[in-house]
Amino acid sequence: MSSLKTYYKKQLAQALAPCFDMFQINRMVKPFYGGVGHILMLHRVVPSGNEPRIHNHLSLEITPKHLDNILGYLSNAGYDFISIEEVPDRLKVKSKKRFIVVTFDDGYNDNLQYALPVFEKYAVPFTIYLCNDFPDNKIFLWWYMLEDVLLRNNELAFSADGEHYSFDSSTKLKKEKVFNKIRKRKNDGHISDQALKSLFQNQGIDTDNYPNDKVLQWNEIKKLAAHPLVTIGAHTASHSSLKTLKEEELLHEVRDAKMKLEEAIGKPVDHIAYPFGSPAEVGRREIELVRKLGFETAVTTSLGNIHPVHIGQLHCLPRISINSLTSISVLKAQLSGVIPMVENKFKRSTLEKFL
Ligand SMILES: [Zn+2]
Repeated sequence: MSSLKTYYKKQLAQALAPCFDMFQINRMVKPFYGGVGHILMLHRVVPSGNEPRIHNHLSLEITPKHLDNILGYLSNAGYDFISIEEVPDRLKVKSKKRFIVVTFDDGYNDNLQYALPVFEKYAVPFTIYLCNDFPDNKIFLWWYMLEDVLLRNNELAFSADGEHYSFDSSTKLKKEKVFNKIRKRKNDGHISDQALKSLFQNQGIDTDNYPNDKVLQWNEIKKLAAHPLVTIGAHTASHSSLKTLKEEELLHEVRDAKMKLEEAIGKPVDHIAYPFGSPAEVGRREIELVRKLGFETAVTTSLGNIHPVHIGQLHCLPRISINSLTSISVLKAQLSGVIPMVENKFKRSTLEKFL
């Protein structure tokens, strides 16, 4: 998920990206900031609708056609598509070709319905990081419910955990701001699940029977796990902000979820994506834990390309978000390293941000 600042940055990046290409800036920067490979991050693949959306959700979606264009472009550009399992070994060897790893977070059923056929077309491997509560039908899809509530209300007032909140949500921009404010308060532990449930129930949403037709079911996950192009990774039990958890809750979220997933698919699960994945939700304790539990890699949502330095940071790997706003020009400016260089203030390493 992204903040409003990211929203403006993306708008700016979109406007400037064609110039980076035209004036050869991508070509000049690539040897220094293009890295040796890239891990792409996607969430949902859905045909486009015309209904208004919160930007945060648009940045989690791409159409099948757009995905096809992107994979087609990358294939023609000569990238080496590898699976996440190959990354540690790949970083040990020198290769002239840059690699691409494609990953999906959460476990939406459009990954099977719309994404898989496109990946089969190009024979490209991909990973799905699965949050167990999705197929267990226990997930509280608060971010979709909050979108529903914001889109149909011009103001929002509620009490949550001893605090009163009052928001003006009368314009598109204000709705974005309110979404990000509530998201932040939720993820830093100030607004509980229960408080949000009350808010949504007061708005007429049946939170216990919210349509879960968006998520993969266990039989579909088993089918995907058996597919030669697919790797199933972990994404915790309930998609909580890990930093806010007590020690035993953290173990339940990470260790127990790994075991349960392994049992369900009958294969080892050696790769994980941190929920939300920014330094606000992930720190030293979480990075140490996933390493100790035997995960071979762990990916964040921090923007960046993979550089040789990441051989020592396999549990804190950066990614590049691919979504409906990623034009081919923006993609080029990401892969060349121009956008990551500016975003990361000329640093290639990722770990320091999280410690
Ligand atoms: Zn997620």
